[in-house]
This record gives sequence, structure tokens and C-alpha cells, in this order.
Amino acid sequence: MAGTGALTKLYPMVQIKKGTWEIDEFDVASMFLLEGAERAMLIDTGMGIGDLRGAVEMITDKPLIVVHSHGHIDHTGNARQFDEVWIHPADRNMPMPDALERRRRDTECIAQRQKGSIGAPYNLFNLYPYDIDTDLRDPADRPVPAIRDLYDGQRFDLGGRTVAVYECPGHTAGEVVFLDETERMLFAGDAVNFNLLLGAAPPEVTLEALKRIRGLADRYDGIWNGHHDFRALGAPLDGDCLENIIAILEDVLAGRASFCECPSFWGQPLPLRRGPRPQPNCLRRGRNFVQFYGD
Ligand SMILES: [Zn+2]
Repeated sequence: MAGTGALTKLYPMVQIKKGTWEIDEFDVASMFLLEGAERAMLIDTGMGIGDLRGAVEMITDKPLIVVHSHGHIDHTGNARQFDEVWIHPADRNMPMPDALERRRRDTECIAQRQKGSIGAPYNLFNLYPYDIDTDLRDPADRPVPAIRDLYDGQRFDLGGRTVAVYECPGHTAGEVVFLDETERMLFAGDAVNFNLLLGAAPPEVTLEALKRIRGLADRYDGIWNGHHDFRALGAPLDGDCLENIIAILEDVLAGRASFCECPSFWGQPLPLRRGPRPQPNCLRRGRNFVQFYGD
């Protein structure tokens, strides 16, 4: 694609199984590539670092369906590299991508929580083959792709491989998860995370949606979320993550939740605490944390 030739394509990635890849946007976000006999599906487009489309085209030459788990800044950043993308209508008005300055700040913060673990600023060593000044761009000169609506119950036929869409509002109003019915994998976006942000839907709505996902458990062998920072690249989330989140929401609705100070999962504090909700606003169960957005 014109204008992307100089961008990095050297994303770390693993082939989880035949025809299924997790593409790591340098610890910032995870994208998943699913290849069927006739079509391929890309789940999410990251913060917008590098030439994602070029990297995908090195793996597959099948016609590509680009879907987004939700509209957040770190999942739609490279949408403009593609001609058409799918997203739930409740999230379609989020900027695609978000402002360059905000994406740069978030990229540094998210990278810090991995690279900061070596005890140094994230950019002290060149651990990853990208340069934030070169590879994170403002694509204002590129057209917004055609946007198509994802909806609950929708199914994509990739050719011998079927992926179904389930709404799961909470992290955002338009959050969805993708069930690969053929390969028995659930791609959860940010609907299920070790450090989960909720509050974009009433807790009882999120609880019912997550319980429905749990009810599908005999149809998938693992859950892969949209960030690998609390799991190994390519490996599914630990089995108790979804259960812990459900238990936390049940505690909230039963009035027995005791909120705690949320640990910082960022290299530096981010202004997540918008709105009037008093702090702290975090709940813990096992290794899982759920933090609620302000209203
Ligand atoms: Zn998100």
C-alpha cells in the first residue's frame, strides 16, 4: 500500500496452530489472524504501529476480513490500512484511529509495563524493531475505511472455518467476542482481561453477557484476549480469569464487594479516573482485577 513501505513489518508473532497466528504489536496489543480455505480474518488492528497489512500479506494472500473487538484506541489504530472494517455499531463513532499524541502516550505507557520489567525505561534498549517516531503515524491523509456492522449471532464463513460474533458489552458498549467454532478458540478482545476495565454497560448486563460466554465453554478450548501482557504470547488466558470476573460482578451486584486501590498496570498513571465515582474503584479476586470507569 502506498505510503507504508518504510514502516516496520517485523512484528513478533507466533503460530498458535495451523492457520492461526497471534501478531504482537510490540507488547502493546495483540491481533489474531485466522486463515480458512477461502478467506482470512484479522481480529483488531492495534495501536497503529508499523505496516500491519504488509505483515498480514506476508502470511496469507487470501481475501481478508478485518474485524474489531471494540473501538478502543489500541484496537483500531491501523484500520485505515484496510479498505473495509467491521465493528459493532455502538463503537463505530469512536475515532479510528485516535489522536496521534494520545496513541503515542499510551504506546509508551503500555510498552513500559513489559519493558519496564527489565528495570529500565522502555526505550533504553532496542528490544523491538520499531521506532515510535517512524512507525506510529497520523494517517489523516488516508481515507477512513468502509465500516460494516458487527452484530450478535453473525457468522463469518472463511471456507471450512466458521467464526461467530457474540456481544459482550461492558468494557465498551460495542465490545464483542469471536468464537472460532471450527478451531474451538474464543478471541475475547478486552471483554476478558486480567486487569479488566468495565463500566460501559450496567454491571448486570455485563454479568449476563459474560455468563453467556462461560456457557459456551464446551465449544472452545481456550480464551485469547487482546493483550498478551499477563500471559505468554500465543498462550490462552488462565482458566480462572473469566470465572473470577464473573464472581467479582456477582459481588458488586450483591452489595458485598469491597473496593481497593487499583494497582498501576502502567509505567506511569493514566487518567482513567474520570467522572464522579469515588476512589478507589477496583476489585480483586485471585490474580484478577476489575476497575470501573467513572460515569
Ligand atoms: Zn479496550
